[in-house]
Amino acid sequence: MEFKVGVIAGDGIGPEITSQAVKVLDKVADVYGHKFDYTDILMGGASIDACGVPLTDEAIATARSCDSVLMGSIGGNTSTSPWYKLEPSKRPEAGLLGLRKALGLFANLRPAVLYDELKGACPLKEEISDKGFDMLIMRELTGGLYFGERKTVTENGEQKAIDTLTYTETEIRRIAKRGFEAAMKRRKKVTSVDKANVLDSSRLWRKVVNEVSKDFPEVELEHMLVDNCAMQIVRDPAQFDVILTENMFGDILSDEASMVTGSIGMLSSASLNETKLGVYEPSHGSAPDIAGMDIANPIATILSAAMMLRYSFDLEKEADAVDAAVKKVLKDGYRTIDIMSEGKSQVGCRQMGDLIAERITR
Ligand code: NAD
Repeated sequence: MEFKVGVIAGDGIGPEITSQAVKVLDKVADVYGHKFDYTDILMGGASIDACGVPLTDEAIATARSCDSVLMGSIGGNTSTSPWYKLEPSKRPEAGLLGLRKALGLFANLRPAVLYDELKGACPLKEEISDKGFDMLIMRELTGGLYFGERKTVTENGEQKAIDTLTYTETEIRRIAKRGFEAAMKRRKKVTSVDKANVLDSSRLWRKVVNEVSKDFPEVELEHMLVDNCAMQIVRDPAQFDVILTENMFGDILSDEASMVTGSIGMLSSASLNETKLGVYEPSHGSAPDIAGMDIANPIATILSAAMMLRYSFDLEKEADAVDAAVKKVLKDGYRTIDIMSEGKSQVGCRQMGDLIAERITR
């Protein structure tokens, strides 16, 4: 099959890590008989330097014309880079927000996986980390408290701030559907997280999720209150497969889940819209402190490319092959500096890309 992939290399370590993901995709293409056509898209600091703005209309049009977009990371050193002397709407991050809006990306997927070989990095007790975990947080990205009406008024001589949390049935239904679809590609369990004992929006959430679940009879559904979920992620993360939740709860829980893996250079992510198009990127930033040194860990970006194969292109076997190659390389004892431990072989960014690409098999 043939796919058009937009590549936003971005800033800092972005170009180094995306090159490794492209290398791995090319190997997948070779081994499985596909063709990926890449188109570079400027965004963030790179776009400010070239075009004066962090995202141009042309870049948006190019992204829309692609089957999917692979991204490194954008932004520079927020204290020293001249990009941060610009007004907020002209800074690198405005490019990413603009792209998310323009493409209507409403579903954010963040897996948190504890690899056997990296259990030592997990900050949880050994009896918990020994069981390992592999969960996917499916977070609604465009509704809820962050996008509701807000204002600050003065009443009876004191200031009062108001934020509103709204969700429509349509918004809940489309993200719930994504959550169940993702579970069908995994271990077929959805934990829907809300605060239905207090919030109306959560009661509607629960009702609509129950309705959507009827279309996915193979998927086990449980409901969990958000405070309990926050506890369970550190008490027994192995119980989770897909955690489906609204915007703010997902923001907090996905950071918690990623921290318990202990290795930021390993965490992939995806943001999807109503079509198959998605933006796939590592969860970490552009690490300007190590840019150009060939020491960045490219695995999060390579795993993001695997998510692209799975969720945008429906190439399940190929995505499994990338995941397996990453596991193999760790098992074979290769580590970038951020995940290095005694007795292992330290490799750079490029070599890590080569080692993973070599391990892609049918
Ligand atoms: P960061 O994630 O870039 O770096 C935090 C620490 O982790 C640094 O010490 C860095 O060297 C290390 N690190 C990150 N990724 C690594 C990798 N793949 N391999 C090895 N080490 C890695 O976070 P920050 O320093 O707070 O932000 C730097 C810039 O990135 C800022 O401009 C920020 O706005 C931007 N940022 C962009 C995105 C995005 O593009 N989606 C996300 C987060 C931050």
